[in-house]
Amino acid sequence: MARHREAVCRLCRREGQKLFLKGLRCFTEKCAIEKRNFIPGQHGQSRRPKVAGYGLQLREKQKVKRTYGLLERQFRSYFEKALRIKGPTGENLIITLERRLDNVVRRAGFSGSHAQARQFILHGHVRVNGKKVNIPSYLVKAGDEVSIKDKMRQNTMVMEARNVAQSQNTVPWLEINRDELKAKVVAMPKREDVQTPAFNEQLIVELYSK
Ligand code: SF4
Repeated sequence: MARHREAVCRLCRREGQKLFLKGLRCFTEKCAIEKRNFIPGQHGQSRRPKVAGYGLQLREKQKVKRTYGLLERQFRSYFEKALRIKGPTGENLIITLERRLDNVVRRAGFSGSHAQARQFILHGHVRVNGKKVNIPSYLVKAGDEVSIKDKMRQNTMVMEARNVAQSQNTVPWLEINRDELKAKVVAMPKREDVQTPAFNEQLIVELYSK
């Protein structure tokens, strides 16, 4: 499956905002945004240019796309789907992306990052309602139970992610049992449940409406 191969901290630096793509490091002073919050590249240290209009819309789209680890075509297809759902398109987009299995694994704190969640799923370590699901884009629904297979309980990456997650905000639409590495989807996510990173999805709607 196609994915970003660029060093992920560069993506945050390009957006000037933490996108939380690297697990534990994102919460330490080693985070590249803490150390050098300027645009990567030769002229990056000059003042961050002011963006407005199209530039602002484009940056917002890139931010959401990168947070969920998607490429342009995949992202566009989520947008098209969001258009067909009743209600505000921007909200529909974010809610659909939140329901992706790789996002649920990350939000539940079973992996340190989105990329790691995707790897766990592709390697067959993730179960939905007790059955192996190896599709990161699988969309969970209310009532589903997402779990990590028993053999992974002592895995260093899982244990580290779990420790980091203890200090994070709760996820209102998930009932998480970190000891058992299980998360039940108790409700569909609402837009207000998604606070970090902060998005302005309306700008994406404007961008794609041109
Ligand atoms: Fe890197 Fe995480 Fe900091 Fe982003 S938030 S710059 S991914 S350490």
